[in-house]
Amino acid sequence: MKLKVIQDIFHKELDPIYGANEVNSMFYLLIDAFYGFSRLQLVLDSDYAIIKEEQERIIDALDRLKREEPIQYILKETEFYGLIIKVNTQTLIPRPETEELVQWIIDEVTLNTTKKPLTILDVGTGSGCIAIALAKHLPQAQVYAIDVSEAALKVAKDNSKLNNVKIEFIKGNVLDVESCPLPEDVRFDIIVSNPPYVRQLEKEKMRANVLEHEPHLALFVKNENPLEFYEAITKLAVNNLKPKGLLFFEINEYFGKEMIDLLDVNKFQSIELKQDIFSKDRMIKGTKG
Ligand code: GLN
Repeated sequence: MKLKVIQDIFHKELDPIYGANEVNSMFYLLIDAFYGFSRLQLVLDSDYAIIKEEQERIIDALDRLKREEPIQYILKETEFYGLIIKVNTQTLIPRPETEELVQWIIDEVTLNTTKKPLTILDVGTGSGCIAIALAKHLPQAQVYAIDVSEAALKVAKDNSKLNNVKIEFIKGNVLDVESCPLPEDVRFDIIVSNPPYVRQLEKEKMRANVLEHEPHLALFVKNENPLEFYEAITKLAVNNLKPKGLLFFEINEYFGKEMIDLLDVNKFQSIELKQDIFSKDRMIKGTKG
């Protein structure tokens, strides 16, 4: 079948769900990943046809997109801060907002310190995207990453190998400090976390591709205490950061004020809230007092 014909089928079936522009982008990503065929080649060689045995992959992708499965799970990878990060349904798909958080940390480190050794801890690492991007761009850092999910840790380990960085992975639950085997002799310069922060009551406005396919363990918190993870990680930071160490969080846009209060109560200084590209309160930084 000609690729052009398959492209038409994609538009017919998927435009009502995603809109033509997004369908175009997804189609090009898929033919590049599956057949090594670029967008330009499709224009230059509009009669290009793929043989029957190779059609199955793209038709399967079409079916999965119809069920609103995220394209990143179909491709089994995504790009994060210029790196290829493998993902599966056990890990959240890295978001552009989180790249901004990584950028903030790298900026702070390069502005304020020389190339002296650093220790960094990423709490709830998921695919490992934050830890890996930091390890890659701050080669002077020794990076530790913790997660409660064995399946996520496996993905994160694979990603660290793929990207050629060395990270100490730890299995543990930050909500239960006893089960959190952090290295006893290490105090951290930086602790960062993008923990679950979406409340159950926010489910209604979420798109099916997130709600029905991404791991709820990585997304949702109880309505009763939406800051549960932040409280636990802040406590962990009080005990495990060096004096003047930095704590960074990605946060729920509706909790900027509460997060400032939480860091303030725990005696963090120079607290700074930052918005993301969508002008939402999305990140916070505090310096341990
Ligand atoms: N920003 C993500 C979303 O909107 C949530 C990430 C998280 O819970 N840490 O789906």
